[in-house]
Amino acid sequence: MKKISVVIWNEFVHEREEGTVGDIIRRHYPEGIHRHLASFLAEEDLEITPVSLDMPGQGLPDELLNGTDVLLWWGHCAHGAVDDALVERIHKRVLAGMGLVVLHSGHLSKIFRSLMGTACRLRWREAGEKERLWVVSPGHPVARDLPETFVIPHQEMYGEPFDIPQDGKIVFMSWFEGGNIFRSGVAFERDRGRIFYFSPGHETYPVYHDPNVRRVLLNAIRWTAPDVIAADRVTPMPKPLEKICSADPLAGVDTAHLHK
Ligand code: ZN
Repeated sequence: MKKISVVIWNEFVHEREEGTVGDIIRRHYPEGIHRHLASFLAEEDLEITPVSLDMPGQGLPDELLNGTDVLLWWGHCAHGAVDDALVERIHKRVLAGMGLVVLHSGHLSKIFRSLMGTACRLRWREAGEKERLWVVSPGHPVARDLPETFVIPHQEMYGEPFDIPQDGKIVFMSWFEGGNIFRSGVAFERDRGRIFYFSPGHETYPVYHDPNVRRVLLNAIRWTAPDVIAADRVTPMPKPLEKICSADPLAGVDTAHLHK
């Protein structure tokens, strides 16, 4: 069986910060969120590669990206440091079929915003409050084997309004102790690619140690994984399948320059 090639990209900045906050983050993720997720999500059908922004090619050189089936993205304070050319290459590959799982503050990453076409803003509050998630699309593959509702004891609040396109399928809805609600798990399709956004994952809480969160991420990887990635996205002009009888009002006019 061919394994799913999964790359976990992390900006890897907060885990190396000095001081108390850095110490708290390192307690949960001593090797960085990307390496933690790589071992946390280890399963036989997955070939997982953790990478970070400070690596050659910002962690995603062509030879790696071109063999990636599913890309997980964790970013927060370094969105602006990601090269536009890299974002463009990732965008192209998603449209060709690569899966993309955007985590937590990745809602403001260049790649998510470019695929959504909206600002992706939301409301937020850092008060260590409880988050209760509800499965609102129990038939969706990303909800497989999850309880109807589960709690993450401490989380940064992400709240509505969340400026994402309305074509997203809401799989999880969250309620926060402070009263806010949020679409915390949303599934999109863009051309041949599937995209899943999942909001829990603030770096100062051990969210990526939670078994329900693990189940969500594994489901998301398997749901977004493509059967095939189209190598060539150029569709030639198709020949008509039936005889076109309508008179062409532009017959004899050269319009070739309009298609360049
Ligand atoms: Zn956060």
